[in-house]
Amino acid sequence: MQYLLEQPVHGDIGTEKYKCTITWRNGTLVADEPEKTGGKSLGPDPHSLLLASLASCTLMTLRMYIDRKGWDVASIAVDANLYQAMEGGKLVTTMDRDIRFLSPVTEEQRKKLLEIAAHCPISKILQGEMKVRTFTYSDADLEKKINYSNEEGAVVWKPELCQHSARCVSGLPEVFNANAKPWINAHGAPSDKIMEQVKKCPTGAISFAKRETSNIQG
Ligand code: SF4
Repeated sequence: MQYLLEQPVHGDIGTEKYKCTITWRNGTLVADEPEKTGGKSLGPDPHSLLLASLASCTLMTLRMYIDRKGWDVASIAVDANLYQAMEGGKLVTTMDRDIRFLSPVTEEQRKKLLEIAAHCPISKILQGEMKVRTFTYSDADLEKKINYSNEEGAVVWKPELCQHSARCVSGLPEVFNANAKPWINAHGAPSDKIMEQVKKCPTGAISFAKRETSNIQG
């Protein structure tokens, strides 16, 4: 299993209702609730963010396809909204997406683009089988760590942060081997290769502490 994103999307909230700071790979944005639900509308609310994801993915996928085909469609617009209703005792969410081509397209092109939009990656996620897994960590959990030393330092593993994505196992099997005991062999590769690999851990569960700069125990 490998995460799609090299770095997770991070969010945090303080006591200011309901301003969240969302950090993504190249910056931050603010999310908030509208005033009618107690926020200050400082940024999009979670439903808007979800719809923005569908709208942007639709537009990018269409643009890629149109450019590959060399069609002359200068501008495309999407409006997305959703409603929810109880159906057979279940809450069913319906998302509507209106796509407008702001240049003339033939009927045949329109049909093909509709098909392409239906298969954009976010559409597939929303319409496919989906699970949300939730893990909780306390400050004390984050303090738990195990060191696997070599001559130059140690791989530091925080088991409570490890989500077993196995990225380390596939990236550097000489060091990370889920079937071995201990599962980390810090002597299995040069430290610089280990340092390169630990940077790719999506959760920050592994790091490398150099001996001269850290107080390593174990
Ligand atoms: S240490 Fe990081 S990369 Fe390795 S299995 Fe855990 S989460 Fe995945």
